[in-house]
Amino acid sequence: MTLRVPLAERRDASYDILIGRGLLADLPALLARHCAAERYAVIADSHVSTLYGEAAVAALRAAGRDAEILTFPAGEWHKTRETWAALTERMLAARFGRDAAVVALGGGVVGDVAGFVAATYLRGLPWVAVPTTLLAMIDSSIGGKTGVDVPEGKNLIGAFHQPCVVVADLEVLGTLASAQLAAGVAEAVKHGVIADADYFALLERERGAIAAKDPAALERVVVRSVEIKSEIVAADEREAGRRSVLNFGHTIGHAVEATSKFAVPHGEAVAIGMACEARLAERVGVAERGTADRIVRLLEAYGLPLEAPTAVPADDLLAAMRGDKKARAGAIRFALPRAIGAMHGSAERGWTMAVAEDVVRQLLA
Ligand code: NAD
Repeated sequence: MTLRVPLAERRDASYDILIGRGLLADLPALLARHCAAERYAVIADSHVSTLYGEAAVAALRAAGRDAEILTFPAGEWHKTRETWAALTERMLAARFGRDAAVVALGGGVVGDVAGFVAATYLRGLPWVAVPTTLLAMIDSSIGGKTGVDVPEGKNLIGAFHQPCVVVADLEVLGTLASAQLAAGVAEAVKHGVIADADYFALLERERGAIAAKDPAALERVVVRSVEIKSEIVAADEREAGRRSVLNFGHTIGHAVEATSKFAVPHGEAVAIGMACEARLAERVGVAERGTADRIVRLLEAYGLPLEAPTAVPADDLLAAMRGDKKARAGAIRFALPRAIGAMHGSAERGWTMAVAEDVVRQLLA
């Protein structure tokens, strides 16, 4: 199946998202069709390189393509400027030129780092996203946000750089640990909350099949989430407006991730963030009563955490939130739901709202 991200303001940069089984085996032909290049720098983390990277590069070479694998250690701790520097230095040493392309093979960490390498190497190379986690398939590979974390916060150094194509091979989800699958479901829950109550109900109804990685159920999740994310990104590529609703759960989520020094993985941190921010939305009177309880029940049903494993002082979380990209004029801002399937805000008033720190502190306490 092919879905499209039809960028409203840059039609020529619109791209396809291919979803199917066994697409990795077709990678040489898919790259030739969607991102022809003289050489490919295939970037993967240490886990994915062993699972799929070496075979992908061997297949590219067997098809007569010049390809090299570049790896870095797995984990959010390595989504850094140092990893970006090491990868670009290796590409310079191997003399990758402007006729090359980058292939990001992995989860969201690989996509963010490799996309940033592509955005910056020789002032920009084309790139292909080959997401291998559920989270990357349904969220991080779509929309062109690339970048790295710095001690001051998550994703603070980066660039918008759209891929030429996204290749989502559902078969690779077979090797994904159940905790990683649940982390991806957290972003799916977010998509249901922000845009589609029926999808949220599907995630409730099909929980058993999704958690058991039933192929048809997983495909429904990937397709619907990709549709929702693509539609939002296509209309607002640079997050000047409605795209910021995708940050539901992320103001507190990013603070939980950063204060835990990334011991809490991104998807789990977003689950904690959504649970707290949904309660905040009710407390400040923008969400219908019962919205938070329903979100919390669904997250719990997928085994997702609702609180950070070790108590973090509210002041530390607030300090991390002040450094968030969404903060404006010193005020912490949130994308908050009005109900399941609808976000608070409008084109005129904006899609995020400032909430007084005292209110946030009380909630966190
Ligand atoms: P991840 O990339 O760290 O992957 C999680 C783990 O799963 C890693 O150990 C990885 O090696 C392993 N893995 C990957 N694919 C596998 C497979 N098929 N089988 C077995 N193991 C596999 O984490 P993630 O949850 O995919 O991504 C989280 C990152 O995505 C965060 O850095 C977050 O900030 C970023 N993100 C970016 C955007 C965006 O728009 N750019 C959106 C959402 C999240």
